[in-house]
Amino acid sequence: MNNDAPHLSFEFFPPKTDQGKSKLAVTRQELGKFNPEFFSVTYGAGGSTRATTMDQVAAIQADGFAVAPHISFGGSAEEEVLTLLNDYKASGVTELVALRGDLPSGMGGAAQLVHANQLVAFIRQHTGDHFNINVAAYPEIHPEAESYSQDVYWLGEKFKAGANRAITQYFYSADAYFKFVDECAKAGIGEPIIPGIMPLTNYSNLLRFSESCGAEIPRWLQWQLKERSDNPADLISYGIDIITELSQKLLDGGAPGLHFYTMNQWQVSDSLCRNLGFPEKS
Ligand code: FAD
Repeated sequence: MNNDAPHLSFEFFPPKTDQGKSKLAVTRQELGKFNPEFFSVTYGAGGSTRATTMDQVAAIQADGFAVAPHISFGGSAEEEVLTLLNDYKASGVTELVALRGDLPSGMGGAAQLVHANQLVAFIRQHTGDHFNINVAAYPEIHPEAESYSQDVYWLGEKFKAGANRAITQYFYSADAYFKFVDECAKAGIGEPIIPGIMPLTNYSNLLRFSESCGAEIPRWLQWQLKERSDNPADLISYGIDIITELSQKLLDGGAPGLHFYTMNQWQVSDSLCRNLGFPEKS
């Protein structure tokens, strides 16, 4: 990929069913046309998707695309994480998304969460410079953060431990992103912070999910989505306009690229990439 081109990546979750796997195979081919830097694959709390994440990583590689598995301790022992890292390294994976993750309900107290900066240090200690390490950032601040500046501080610690790039939680306010990047710069963080983009496709799911992860949906946008909640085609078409506008504003304002939370669907991300002028492979 041309180094001056904006970063582009797409996120998937590991499907459980054969039907889900077949649909995702189509999604990979459709979005692969945009020549993304990688497809990333989420990792369930407490290692609950370990096998399905690894399956999906192998499927992406078999199709000839670069892949970034998400990884966390999530209650696992060091040896388990090390085995996973070595397996990825042996299979040619060069990108990771390193996270603290969250414990699944019912596991609270039984296991310790390992913060992402500690995981990054662990990866560097055991695999040197092999992996390009992506970490999470929160322009609207992580829900458990002690304060805005503490959250920026801990992001800085992830970079000091050896991370290369951050991908953000999704947000719908470009200002929140730009202010956050400014604060990071003041704190000495110069690494790329890629906006995570969540397409608008379903009103009630988005409301529920945003509450748990601390992403804000502006009131005006909630009203607009609510009004279209009984007409999926209208909501999706409206959502594409809004997200195109947000993404363009981010790129125009200097964001170094975009990471799309695809929910394993290709159509909306495809429309957004076309609207934004991401070149397709000929
Ligand atoms: P951390 O960086 O460890 O931060 C968590 C909180 O602790 C923050 O409030 C921070 O300020 C504070 N903190 C950080 N380091 C320290 C420290 N050393 N000591 C004390 N406090 C500290 N979840 C999944 O389960 N699976 C996934 O695949 C997944 N993928 C994601 C991808 C992206 C791009 C993003 C943005 C999030 C993803 N998440 C995923 C959600 C993520 O796991 C949760 O948001 C989780 O609560 C925090 O993970 P983190 O890596 O940001 O944690």
